[in-house]
Amino acid sequence: MDKSTTKVLVVEDESKLARFMELELEHEGYKVIIAEDGKEAIDKYFSEGPDIILLDLMLPQLNGIEVCRRIRKESADVPIIMITAKGETMDKIAGLDSGADDYMTKPFAVEELFARIRAALRRRTDKAEDNSNILTLKNLTIDLARHTVKFDNNDIELTKREFELLVYLVQNKNIVISREQILNKVWGYDYIGETNVVDVYIRYLRTKIDDKYGVKLLHTIRGVGYFAKDED
Ligand code: CA
Repeated sequence: MDKSTTKVLVVEDESKLARFMELELEHEGYKVIIAEDGKEAIDKYFSEGPDIILLDLMLPQLNGIEVCRRIRKESADVPIIMITAKGETMDKIAGLDSGADDYMTKPFAVEELFARIRAALRRRTDKAEDNSNILTLKNLTIDLARHTVKFDNNDIELTKREFELLVYLVQNKNIVISREQILNKVWGYDYIGETNVVDVYIRYLRTKIDDKYGVKLLHTIRGVGYFAKDED
């Protein structure tokens, strides 16, 4: 992407840092828009249509997580890099769940910032060109890049392990997979514990998907294993 047409929205309430980022990014050839609080960030997102957002976590009005969530409701595409100050406790998972693509901790070197911006923009381009990040099984859609699962338009909240199990089954849809294969792939070869953990997690998935939406996507072949079925 041509940098001179790439708009960066910098959301930062420390005005000195915001100004520093603006100067550095402009020097690098980007167009820069600044927002100093969470509300302004949302307004500028809508009015300016930035190509990428650098989002401070601790902000007046709305914090970075909330800003991220609201923007993600409107757009799955715009890359968001969350920036946290050293010492701020930020649950990485909470940030990822809110839809951020990447993280940085302050203070950071501007070269690192540039590298992350380039990477985020590149990932977006790749995503636009290649939909292989999306897996489907009938009405179910799994977005591997964003770690989200939907049944039609309903979000399904899964734990990390449930997500990995579902992805593995859907990647191999219509093929029966043994418990052992699932254990090795999803829990790892060094897993020590109950082998019925697979059955337990299949049950969790069924509760959240099959039972909830009245469908039969996850099938059991007694004594053999499991498969995700999308053929009738
Ligand atoms: Ca701040």
